[in-house]
Amino acid sequence: ELYFDRIKSLDDKIDSYLSTCEDKAAAQAQEAQKLIDSGNHSLLCGIPFSIKDNICIEATKTTCASKMLEDFVSPYTATAVNKLYSENAVILGKTNLDEFAMGGSTENSAFKKTKNPFDLTRVPGGSSGGSAASISASLALGSLGSDTGGSVRQPASFCGVVGMKPTYGLVSRYGLVAFASSFDQIGPIAKTVEDCAIILDSIAGHDAKDGTSLNYKNPSLYSSLFSGDIDIKGLKLGLPKEYLTEGLNSEVRASLYTSISALEKLGAEIEEFSMPSLKYAIQAYYLMSSAEASSNLSRYDGVKYGYRADKCKSYQELIGKSRAEGFGKEVKRRILLGTYALASGYYDAYYKKALKLRTMISQGFEQAFTKYDIILHPTTPETAFKLGQNTDNPLTMYLADIYTVAVNIAGLPSISVPCGYDENGLPIGLSFTGKPLGENDIFKAAGAFE
Ligand code: GLN
Repeated sequence: ELYFDRIKSLDDKIDSYLSTCEDKAAAQAQEAQKLIDSGNHSLLCGIPFSIKDNICIEATKTTCASKMLEDFVSPYTATAVNKLYSENAVILGKTNLDEFAMGGSTENSAFKKTKNPFDLTRVPGGSSGGSAASISASLALGSLGSDTGGSVRQPASFCGVVGMKPTYGLVSRYGLVAFASSFDQIGPIAKTVEDCAIILDSIAGHDAKDGTSLNYKNPSLYSSLFSGDIDIKGLKLGLPKEYLTEGLNSEVRASLYTSISALEKLGAEIEEFSMPSLKYAIQAYYLMSSAEASSNLSRYDGVKYGYRADKCKSYQELIGKSRAEGFGKEVKRRILLGTYALASGYYDAYYKKALKLRTMISQGFEQAFTKYDIILHPTTPETAFKLGQNTDNPLTMYLADIYTVAVNIAGLPSISVPCGYDENGLPIGLSFTGKPLGENDIFKAAGAFE
């Protein structure tokens, strides 16, 4: 009730939710209360969650913030959400995002623009901007977002909360609407590193319904890390020189170096190193993710799902018109880019080259992890920008993903933690990136740092 009261009084300013489910949540809360009264309950019992609206919940709308799926009601529930249900978490509603998770400001939503709770004239980041804003404004205590190239970590950083992208395959993608399948992961957003650990412990684990799910035992991060003081003496962190370029805002840079001193005081050893392939991460990411998106989005044909244009005279016209009217501008841009890159005449020149870069980047990380336990870097080059500032400049938007996309290219785990504020009082985020299945290391460092 407290959370719904807050949503009713605050969310018309923030616009973090696309839909709420008060009746279902009340029933879940009553069930949770009984378990709490009996003294036998799990950690997430009764905890109020928001869920990004590209993650399916049975008999509930999943719009992906697209006109294409405006009236789509999911016939099944995502595995990650089912896992939260099995711990009696309470789901309050679905949060806003960039259409089909394509974007970094939540301005690409077909329905509304979410605002940053720190400054309502600024973006919350994206694409999981609704999820991050809902946590930042205490309109939920935990949230699930999706991260294809930074969409959990970047909005968490803009909204002053913690966001985590798990190792590819650790959390099931079953029930997550696909953007770029070889990059997508569901990840937790919460106020603390500890809360993110509790959520990840719950949602991680093998799922036969996802062909890329890893056969790996759950990490139990919470009990192994957060029962006493965290010791990071001797932990080795590498800071890539390629990330310390001119584009890095001076206040974000200053906050990075203050954070480094704090980590050194805790006993960590930090060193700059060079990983030349990082320079190509943005190009490789946008080429491959758009290629995968163009293929994944071919299912929206006006026949099987969602929006259907009327008064069409032929099947061709039905497909063309439904897609032209149902998809927004950014989604169309990605479909065009992806289709072009996959076209037979261009495949070798673009897609195949990008795949080679993917291997190079993954090998670069592999090599770095022979020396370091963790790669440390800013989450974003700048803090939250003004609404509308970058809407006419997609390239500026793409370049702002410079620090987050390499992690998804290589399938690595990464966590963004608040590390300071700029002169406008806007939060700055610091990221800890680990080796594959190195969740324990990054939660340890982030938990000690927090
Ligand atoms: N901003 C990136 C993009 O637009 C990342 C999106 C994401 O992680 N879903 O592709």
